[in-house]
Amino acid sequence: MRIFRKSDDLMEFLRLNHVDGLKLGFVPTMGALHAGHISLVSRSMEQNELTICSIFVNPTQFNNPEDLAKYPVTIEKDIDMLEASGCQLLFLPDPSQIYPAGYQARHYDLGYLETILEGKYRPGHFQGVCQVVDRLLSIVNPDILYLGRKDYQQCMVIARMLTLTGRNITLDFVETMREPNGLAMSSRNVRLNESDRVRAIQIYRSLQWLKKNVKPGNLSPLKAEAVQQLTDHGFEVDYVEIASAESLSITEVWDGREPLVALAAAFCGPVRLIDNVTIS
Ligand code: AMP
Repeated sequence: MRIFRKSDDLMEFLRLNHVDGLKLGFVPTMGALHAGHISLVSRSMEQNELTICSIFVNPTQFNNPEDLAKYPVTIEKDIDMLEASGCQLLFLPDPSQIYPAGYQARHYDLGYLETILEGKYRPGHFQGVCQVVDRLLSIVNPDILYLGRKDYQQCMVIARMLTLTGRNITLDFVETMREPNGLAMSSRNVRLNESDRVRAIQIYRSLQWLKKNVKPGNLSPLKAEAVQQLTDHGFEVDYVEIASAESLSITEVWDGREPLVALAAAFCGPVRLIDNVTIS
C-alpha cells in the first residue's frame, strides 16, 4: 500500500494513473479502523481498479472539544488492517494539507437536514463534515465515494453537498456492520468499559423494537416508549426519532406506506452512540 501525506504528491500520482483510465473508489475515515470501515474498502475493491482510503480526524466537525481530544488514534494498527484488506492507497494528511493557509471555509446550504437529529444536537457538525469531504474530493476526485449507513443523516448531507457543489461522483451507501450481539461497530466503542459495552446493545434492541411495533397512525407513544427503555437502561437520550427513509423529515403520523428509518443517539456512560434501522 502506498501512503501519501502531501496533497500535491497524491494529486500528481492520481493524475498520472488516471491517464490509464482506472476507476477510483474512495473511503474517507477518521481512523481507529474496524471491520465496518474495512467493509467499505472491500466493496470499493470489488467495484474499482484502485481504492484509496483516507484517515484524517477532522477538527472542524467536532462541536465538543473533549470529544475531539478523546477520539481514538491507532494509526499503526489501521495501516496493518488496510494492508491486509488489499487497499492500494492511503492518504494520511495533517491539518495543514486539508486546510492550507488561505483556505476559505464556505457555507453549505443544508436546509432542514442541519436542524434535525444530529444537526440539532451537534451544531456546526455537518458544516465541518461537508468542508472536509468537499476538500478531500477536490484532492482525490474519485469515481465512487463510499459511505456507511451507520451515519444515515451524514449520507444525506453528503448527497446534498454533491448537488450543491455540482460534483459528478457516484455515491454508494454501505450497510452497517454490527457485532454478533447487534451493537453497531464504531470507533467510539473502544471507549466503552466492559459493562457499558454490554449495556450499549440496548440501542439496537430498542430500534428493533420500534421496527417490530410500528403501526400506521400516531408514532409519538412508540417513540416515547423507546426513549423510556433507553432511560431505564441508564442512557442519557438525545433523541429517538422515526423519519422518512428518503427525505429524513420527521414522521409524527405514519400512513403505513412510506419507508421509514428509526434513529437514535444516546450517551452510554461518557460515550455518545448513534444507530439506525430502516423500516420498510
Ligand atoms: P468514521 O471513521 O467514523 O468517520 O467513519 C468512516 C466511514 O465508515 C463513514 O462513512 C461511516 O459511516 C462508515 N462506518 C462507520 N462505522 C461503520 C459500520 N459499523 N458499518 C459500516 N460503515 C461504517
